[in-house]
Amino acid sequence: MGVPDPSRLSAALAAVSSERIAARVRELAAIGGSSDGGVSRLGLTKEEQAAREMVASWLIPLGFKREQDAACNLFCSAGPSPRVLIGSHLDSVPDGGRYDGSLGVVTAVEVAEAAHAARLALPLEIVAWSAEEGARYRAGHFGSAATFGQLPPDVGDRELRDGNLVKDAIRDLIGRAPDLAGCRRPITDFIGYLELHIEQGPRLASQGLPVGVVTGIVGMTRATLLFTGRADHSGTTPMDARSDALAAAAECVLAVERVGRESGGQLVGTVGELRVFPGSANVVPGGCRLTIEVRSLSDATQAEAYGRILELTMALCDQRGIRCAVEVVDRIPATAMSQLIVAAIEESCARLGVPAMRLSSGAGHDAQNVVTAGVQGGMVFVRSTEGSHNPKEHADAEDAAAGTRIVLSVADAIARLGARR
Ligand SMILES: [Zn+2]
Repeated sequence: MGVPDPSRLSAALAAVSSERIAARVRELAAIGGSSDGGVSRLGLTKEEQAAREMVASWLIPLGFKREQDAACNLFCSAGPSPRVLIGSHLDSVPDGGRYDGSLGVVTAVEVAEAAHAARLALPLEIVAWSAEEGARYRAGHFGSAATFGQLPPDVGDRELRDGNLVKDAIRDLIGRAPDLAGCRRPITDFIGYLELHIEQGPRLASQGLPVGVVTGIVGMTRATLLFTGRADHSGTTPMDARSDALAAAAECVLAVERVGRESGGQLVGTVGELRVFPGSANVVPGGCRLTIEVRSLSDATQAEAYGRILELTMALCDQRGIRCAVEVVDRIPATAMSQLIVAAIEESCARLGVPAMRLSSGAGHDAQNVVTAGVQGGMVFVRSTEGSHNPKEHADAEDAAAGTRIVLSVADAIARLGARR
């Protein structure tokens, strides 16, 4: 280690196979797969476990040692510690696609395949984070939070969406009571972290670029607003005698949209959940609960927008005589990727002749937990089409192979830096 070997790296880059990537994406998609090409493979289920077994079965023949921790994360390692950590997640949303997460794990395995074929000495740890999507366990990024000590202490006793406890679901999968606090690993185990992921947005496709260099992941505030008015008979209550909670909530929905639109692309705001009480055609709504979500790469912009939305909403509620109670349910700061890795990714793109652009991620990723913990980390986005979190999401194997070569060459570069440390 430590001595650059350009011929071995070139041979490894040449060994990256788009056919193998495509075949393995197909193989994984069969686990929890549906007839429309989509995947339902929720976190902390036996389908997710079967996907991990498949990934381990690809790496063990290359000389990798397999370990699974109590949070169900799969780590497969080769070479001396510290190592370059590469991977993504294997769970999906219900009726999701076959590329979100899986492509990052398949291409991480491809980095291992290529290094192995070229006998390139690269200390690697391939990871499949568990339960990234938060589809069964309510919060996302479960596995990476466990590795970096970011889970709440009582997490084992928390309920999954289906009513089971987290600790029971895990015991069913790994056959032992989980010690989740014991999953924590020191950041000195890792030279750096790389994650390839589909973009899940239209920017790369619209620019005709195969690959994006992620500069940061947006932060988010999510809050629940409860509007309380007065339920009344819809036929007998005149329009000027109503306290309609839904009408006030509707003004809030439009305020969220307006603040987002007026930001000039600096933030996005969404109301994605709304319930009306009592919820009957012949009753003026007495209550309404909705969730507002604001995301931005700038925490200051996000805080300002969130404040503005509440201000507008409260003023409208005052005018209408509606009470509004606000509860912040989640607040995640924006995460900048490591400058060193961003620069190394751009350098690799230039050296390999892969056209790329810098972009931010509007979706959350495990990389947030890794970088927040203090590991130098970065992400490579691959162009995707047909949206994401649906069966039609798509990424070309050639684009994925280009992204894999970038991850491989950055891994090689930071491994040599790490060895010099
Ligand atoms: Zn994902």
